[in-house]
Amino acid sequence: MSGPDVVVVGAGVNGLAAAVTLARQGLAVTVLEGAEQVGGAARTAETTLPGFRHDLGSAVHPMALASPFFRRFGLTRRVPMLTPAISYAHPMPDGRAAIAWRDLDRTAADLGVDGPAWNRLLGPLVRRAERVGRFTTGPVLRLPPDPVAAALFGRAVLEQGGPAWGVRWREPDAAALLTGVMAHTIRPMPSLSTAAAGLALAVQGHAGGWPVPVGGTGAIVDALVADLVAHGGRIETGRPVGAVEELPRRAVAVLDTSTAALLRIAPARIAAPVRAWLRTVRFGDGVGKVDFALDGPVPWRDERLRDAVTLHLGGPRADVARAEGEVAAGLVPDRPYVLAAQPTVIDPSRAPAGKHVLWAYTHLPAGSDLDPTELVTAAVERDAPGFRDLVLASSASSATDVGRWDPNLVGGDIAAGAVSLRQLVARPLPSPDPWHVGDRLYLCSAAAAPGPGVHGMGGYLAARSLLRREFGIRTPPSLR
Ligand SMILES: Cc1cc2nc3c(=O)[nH]c(=O)nc-3n(C[C@H](O)[C@H](O)[C@H](O)COP(=O)(O)OP(=O)(O)OC[C@H]3O[C@@H](n4cnc5c(N)ncnc54)[C@H](O)[C@@H]3O)c2cc1C
Repeated sequence: MSGPDVVVVGAGVNGLAAAVTLARQGLAVTVLEGAEQVGGAARTAETTLPGFRHDLGSAVHPMALASPFFRRFGLTRRVPMLTPAISYAHPMPDGRAAIAWRDLDRTAADLGVDGPAWNRLLGPLVRRAERVGRFTTGPVLRLPPDPVAAALFGRAVLEQGGPAWGVRWREPDAAALLTGVMAHTIRPMPSLSTAAAGLALAVQGHAGGWPVPVGGTGAIVDALVADLVAHGGRIETGRPVGAVEELPRRAVAVLDTSTAALLRIAPARIAAPVRAWLRTVRFGDGVGKVDFALDGPVPWRDERLRDAVTLHLGGPRADVARAEGEVAAGLVPDRPYVLAAQPTVIDPSRAPAGKHVLWAYTHLPAGSDLDPTELVTAAVERDAPGFRDLVLASSASSATDVGRWDPNLVGGDIAAGAVSLRQLVARPLPSPDPWHVGDRLYLCSAAAAPGPGVHGMGGYLAARSLLRREFGIRTPPSLR
């Protein structure tokens, strides 16, 4: 028995994507996961009451749908995905919501006076959705040349990421709708990185849509694990790795960890200038997460939202931007931005008959110990009076707790490294091969390009870099 060719440290989606790719190449792959369960930020569990299945981390999957890795893997044939007609919605103070339907024309028609402007901003990008998707699924420094998509996307980012971001809109709804998506990045707004991430997600909202997997995000992890095991890979849980020296000497190491952990685990394998650069990586602010088990559907003031899976709460653009600015200043906003998902409106398998789950988080300063339950409950109650009375049970994680249940999410930073412009372009290094971080050492997590999200591309591209550098293999294996 000669031991593994490759050891992957961490069984998040990216670690598993790397392991699947390498095992399918015929390499002997072992995955060591520190937690007792695999999946990292993509786990699903009954954390409130029996029969209520909650996504601990990620819940909604436009990036999985757009991911070249998951397309090659045939994800949607392995895991049924349900795509709602509403990609995301944004309740407004007057009781009606701004809605991004998957159908671009219906969205524009609903937005009234700003409909044509929404269409002009997003229409050309939606028509090139696959090429725009590459901006979020590959390293920025190695983009395939596509001048038209790049120019259109760049122009939209410059507009919505700078002082002119309000010029296009005449009414509050369209501006709020776009701001809700841009706020996913947990950064002050407007900024180029919030605009880039938000526009890419908004484009997916009108292309493939924003789907959820039947049974929860854990189903995606299960599909990866099944494929890995079928191709001879091994997974050991409850195996935290503290130093690369614990691994078999001849094995190549692939780390699905934060950059901070990478520096702790393998300093001797990393060249001094690279170590110095990695020390400059900054973590972002955090989230406080709450999962609710509900006695019935959420009573949104706008009844159309009873069919919406994803909602952005926080009111008009200025209010969301103010709340995000407060978080960046280290404050807990009174009226926070809240990202919510109600998957049971489309996937009743996650709760007992007639019952529902609500997944929600709000942005908090990094490392905050605040229990977010009341903050989030009050935010939902504002747009859905009576919500509070439906809560059967809830389970909450402060930003500190989030960083405890997944060590990659330092201080509750769900992106595993701030999504600043610098850390979008150089994630974690200013290199066209940013996954290769040292001697027989690779970083594959969301801390590496292309960054956060359930797309598996960090793992897939790290595995391809490894195959090329260590084994001279340029053609990736089939994932079918
Ligand atoms: C609350 C929340 C909501 C989110 N919502 C969405 C969403 O709706 N859609 C979306 O696309 N994305 C979302 N994301 C982001 C997405 O889930 C992550 O970017 C993605 O899952 C990261 O995968 P990963 O493999 O890079 O890392 P992780 O999922 O963080 O996995 C890393 C794994 O490595 C293990 N590990 C770390 N260090 C060690 C060590 N030293 N030894 C052994 N094991 C170790 C960890 O225990 C963990 O299991 C969300 C994340 C969170 C937390």
